[in-house]
Amino acid sequence: MNPNFLFYFLAGAAISSIIFFLFARFNQKQKSKIIESAQINRMASSLRDKISEAEGERAKISAILNNMVEGVIACDRTKRILIINPSAETIFGGRSKSILGKNILEATRNPTIDQMMDQAIDQKRIVTDEIELHYPEKRILRLNAVGISPVENSHSIFAILVVDDVTEVRKLESLRRDFVANVSHELKTPLTSIKGFIETLSAGAIDDKVRAKSFLKMMEEDSDRLTRLIGDLLELSKIESKEILLKSEVIDLQNEIDQVLAGFKTILEEKKITTENKMNAQVFADRDKLKQILINLIENAIKFNKPQGRITFTLAASGEYVKLEIADTGIGIPKDIIPRVFERFFRADQARSRDLGGTGLGLAIVKHLVETHGGQIWCESQFGKGSTFIITLPVAR
Ligand code: ADP
Repeated sequence: MNPNFLFYFLAGAAISSIIFFLFARFNQKQKSKIIESAQINRMASSLRDKISEAEGERAKISAILNNMVEGVIACDRTKRILIINPSAETIFGGRSKSILGKNILEATRNPTIDQMMDQAIDQKRIVTDEIELHYPEKRILRLNAVGISPVENSHSIFAILVVDDVTEVRKLESLRRDFVANVSHELKTPLTSIKGFIETLSAGAIDDKVRAKSFLKMMEEDSDRLTRLIGDLLELSKIESKEILLKSEVIDLQNEIDQVLAGFKTILEEKKITTENKMNAQVFADRDKLKQILINLIENAIKFNKPQGRITFTLAASGEYVKLEIADTGIGIPKDIIPRVFERFFRADQARSRDLGGTGLGLAIVKHLVETHGGQIWCESQFGKGSTFIITLPVAR
């Protein structure tokens, strides 16, 4: 064998093996690089999913917090505010920038809240209380402070305060209580009087014909008052429970007022009260309800008028609504109590109103009826000179 050939053969084989080895290594490296990059891609995509999941959760939580009617404040162990939602900001009259990071006492300026949060954090329980705030406006708040045990770090929430504004609820409860007390009082007065007369009559007065007759007359007046009162109460509760359905139609206002005035002819003549009713307006209203509105307002304009007084009906049309003014030349209403005359049972002068047969419910009924028609009512008055009641009703097209 040619030695040269052997040499070249061996050299060639060696070079091929080196090339093959190098190629195999290169291939191996490439392969592991591809595997590595696939792994990195998988990790990146799972990280992206996790981040977008976390962002989604955060968006959900902030949507809930931002739209909650209740105020929510979350604090750390030292009662430093970590989260506050817009409702809580409004209640405590600040902006999140100024409140975030502050201590709860500093932010709310309320020692009860501060103590509640202390108890919630220390005892890990729910602490409930009700407080009255006077700044930035008077409010009654129901508070629930909830203590929690987090995995501790510098951003851990240790207590959450949920604040419920119950001002309106408490106001309504108090109105209801007052109403029940008023009704009981109003019903009790004539009943006590009737019972007193019956006792006096039974004790012998029945034999004195003249006295007995006058007692019977007073008993009749008391029972009339009871009937009126119960009638007004039933009417009011019907209107307030929104049971009434309006049967609206086109009504000529002047004609309707004239008809109501005709019903008061005798008393108007007795008190020598003159009336002026010139108007050209058609309203779209329920005839019975409109009649009731007019009766109550005209009855008051007569009752609280002076002898030889005057009642004037004027019209001031205002767009979609007709504005009717009923002005009297009566005793007027002191300025500070004008807004209260529409309250149930409110009377400027209790004794006078009762003597005049009033129940104190007339204007409350009128207000409801006007508002049921979509209108408004208010009063302007000069004490000692007279009052004007203004109502708006939908115009008939
Ligand atoms: P009342 O049955 O006492 O008339 P209302 O609800 O109709 O009850 O009126 C409430 C109170 O408003 C009256 O007691 C009276 O003090 C006052 N008031 C109403 N209308 C007039 C008026 N035209 N002039 C003066 N005061 C009035």
